[in-house]
Formats: sequence, structure tokens, C-alpha cells
Amino acid sequence: MLKIDNLTAEIDGKTILNGLSLEVAAGEIHAIMGPNGAGKSTLSYVLGGRPGYEVTGGSVTFRGQDLLDMEPHERAAAGLFLGFQYPVEIPGVSNVQFLREALNAQRKGRGEEPLSGGEFLKLAKEKAALLKLDMDMLKRNVNVGFSGGEKKRAEMVQMGILDPAFAVLDETDSGLDIDALRVVGDGINAIMRDSGKGVLLITHYQRLLDVVKPDKVSILSKGRIVKTGGPELALRLENEGYDAVMAEPA
Ligand code: ADP
Ligand code: MG
Ligand code: MG
Repeated sequence: MLKIDNLTAEIDGKTILNGLSLEVAAGEIHAIMGPNGAGKSTLSYVLGGRPGYEVTGGSVTFRGQDLLDMEPHERAAAGLFLGFQYPVEIPGVSNVQFLREALNAQRKGRGEEPLSGGEFLKLAKEKAALLKLDMDMLKRNVNVGFSGGEKKRAEMVQMGILDPAFAVLDETDSGLDIDALRVVGDGINAIMRDSGKGVLLITHYQRLLDVVKPDKVSILSKGRIVKTGGPELALRLENEGYDAVMAEPA
């Protein structure tokens, strides 16, 4: 589903991703862990096509297409979803407006008819209930005055509505208390645990992986994947730390 081969990328002339290779098959939840500054967020921005992140080598194939050749909106229409470590606030635009525009833009990109207002609200209510987010929250402006937990739940409602084939979730667990973590984790499972889908789950902590059980765990360090294993690798990182685990031969 996603194949990253020897990817290099830089910001302001500084190399951040340095020969990164990674494959995620359909049906797989692949966790990415790594020290601060390793390039985890950079990887998600490069996959999303964020301006300012210059790819200098390597390739990314997504569902058989050259991802790096596509505009950000084309990537979204092709089924790629990005969840951000720091969701942005959009004053003056309600969540309902934003989500309906986003969904219908993607449907248009796939040659599908837009959803009517009524159809959209039904879908939004269903996904908001899944994330235990009050519909009143969705009538408010995007993320304005939302707590950290509310922002993450609203983002997962967005993911539920867009129903992507592949999600890159960057520290979706940051700023969540124990109860919100469970709600968000259960939401990810409900929306993305499907044989036809894939997830790249970027996290620092085992606690999210207790809820969203990964099939594989990779360690990203200094811009490349240095180790890949099963769920036990995350447990070992939690107990032994990055330095000890990375010091072993790959
Ligand atoms: P992680 O998410 O793993 O903590 P990041 O991808 O955010 O790491 O950052 C990787 C490296 O890139 C860090 O050294 C960071 O300082 C650097 N970096 C990130 N954004 C910029 C930027 N806009 N300009 C220069 N360097 C940046
Ligand atoms: Mg970080
Ligand atoms: Mg980061």
C-alpha cells in the first residue's frame, strides 16, 4: 500500500530524512517511534506534500501511484489522511462547514457526487458519537478554544468522515488524558482496522499501543529507519530506552 524507498528530504538546505525506507502493507498498523528530532513529523509532512519540505532523492509509491508526483489535494483524494501533532485553529469556519467542504472536495476528486446537507449531517453525527464528541462542538469554529483532547477527537471525527485508505497519525496521543486516549484509540481501531487500510502511527508512548495494537514497530533515528520488529519492540523501548535498543546490531 505504501512503499518508501531510500527517501531523502531537506528543510532550508538541512538534510532531515536521510535514506529512509519503509513499507506498510494493506491491513497493517505500523508504529513509528524515535527520539525527539529524529524526523518523524518531517516524514508525515513530506508524505502530505507540505511546501518547504524538499525531497532530494528516493521514491514513495502509494497504492501503485508515485505519491511525490501528486499535489496535496490529489494525495488526499487518493485516500491519504494526515493527523497533525498540532492541529490548526481556523477562526470563522465551523467544523461542519470545513468537514463537508473537505469531504465533497475529495469526492469530486474521485468523480463522485457531493453529499447533501442532510446526508452529511447524518454521517457527521455517527462519527461524532463514535468519538464521544458532542455535535455542538462540531458547530463551533475549527479547533478554536478546543482543549488538546477535543482537538484530537475532532481530528478523528474528520478521519471517520473522510474514511481514508491510509492514515499517518503524528503523536495523536499527545496531550490526551487516560480516558481520552482510550476513546481516540478505540476510534482509530473502529475507523482504520480494516483489511484494505493502513496506518502509520507515530508515537512516543506504549500507552497508545496498548489500545491500538501495532502489527509492526519501527525506530526512526537521524532520518532513517534503524530497526523494525513486532509489538515487543515498543515494550522494550519503554523499559530499556532508545539508546540501549539502538546500540544492538540491527
Ligand atoms: P520529530 O518529529 O521526530 O521530533 P521533526 O521531524 O520535527 O522531528 O524534526 C527533525 C529535525 O528537523 C529536527 O532537528 C528539527 O530541528 C529540524 N527541523 C524541523 N523543522 C524545521 C524547519 N522548519 N527548519 C529547520 N529545521 C527544522
Ligand atoms: Mg517531536
Ligand atoms: Mg514530531
